[in-house]
Amino acid sequence: MIYLDNAATTPVRREVLEAMWPHLTGDFGNPSSHHEVGESAARALAGARSAVASALECRASEVIFTAGGTESDNLAIKGIALAAPRGRHILTTAIEHEAVLESCDYLCRFHDFEIEFLPLDNSGLVDPVDVARLLRPDTTLVTIMHANNEIGTVQPIAEIAELTRAAGVPFHTDAVQSAGWLELGLRTLGVDAISVSGHKLGAPKGIGVLAIRTAVALEPLLHGGGQERGHRSGTENVAGAVGLATALKLSTHSTDKVAAVARIRDIVIDGVLAVVPEAFLTGSRDSRLPSHASFCFPGTSGEAVLLELERHGIVCSSGSACAAGSDDPSHVLIALGIPPEVATTAVRFTLDTTTTEADAGEVVACVAGAVAALHSRAS
Ligand code: PLP
Repeated sequence: MIYLDNAATTPVRREVLEAMWPHLTGDFGNPSSHHEVGESAARALAGARSAVASALECRASEVIFTAGGTESDNLAIKGIALAAPRGRHILTTAIEHEAVLESCDYLCRFHDFEIEFLPLDNSGLVDPVDVARLLRPDTTLVTIMHANNEIGTVQPIAEIAELTRAAGVPFHTDAVQSAGWLELGLRTLGVDAISVSGHKLGAPKGIGVLAIRTAVALEPLLHGGGQERGHRSGTENVAGAVGLATALKLSTHSTDKVAAVARIRDIVIDGVLAVVPEAFLTGSRDSRLPSHASFCFPGTSGEAVLLELERHGIVCSSGSACAAGSDDPSHVLIALGIPPEVATTAVRFTLDTTTTEADAGEVVACVAGAVAALHSRAS
């Protein structure tokens, strides 16, 4: 099998599992317990927190462990908006993950916030000039994803952050898809809050982090025992935190890694566009995740292409895993102006460092065969 759905999830890395194992077995304590078993768990959690802080360029006290990307996004958006609103205006984009869009929708429905969507070009890019134009004295939060999960487009986050900083408006970015692939951190990006999810990086599902500057007020979503400095009550997932810290350390961005994966991605992109003339790439060609190739195949159905590819041992997706199973066209592609009947022909390949040139060649050949078979069945 050639697994090309790494944007949906990744296998847990051996080193991650090995780092976690002691904290699931012998060293199983509750970090809040006042005895040696608890204190040992607290030390492990503190070590994981420091490691995550150094990967995300913040202080250990600015790391909040969560149950994943969805919770980190919810906590950042609702937590910042409800803590100290300058007003009730939030700037975002229509191509965010559902965790962001639904959090904004909640604030709109239950707390009278006004959600404004930034214009996008047809590759999904935000122009910082529009952010400058649309920031208002009552803007409480700007939330723009670092890289899109469906089309791989990477936003000019650092440029936008200069504008939000000058305006004194908190800026959150969902970096769930870019972590491990792009340089990121509170300092590098200049943002106030970053969401990351473990299972996209070789850590298990159910662990994530929100890194957030101390200066930004945050209302908790979960109330209880006051763990995570009162920001996120609930007994900490020590093993998960250790796993996430290990995965972040192992998957740290490197120019060589990015160049190697981007080269294989380009073989897929150029090859597919050459063998299926009516196909087009979705998202930006230049400002794109190194691991991401996504297309529309007009005249087919994305689900049918997936089935054909799976018969040949290639596992990929028709877009977001969260929308999987739904026949609705992707909100991301619709926001880019792609007609619904074309948006339903989308197929996404997301690579990792183990994807080879031979895999890329096989993908191109199988896509050509799959699309030709579907066209001949339809005629
Ligand atoms: N944000 C983005 C961009 C994602 O791609 C995902 C998951 O696909 C999430 C948030 C949600 O992360 P999790 O699955 O950890 O809740």
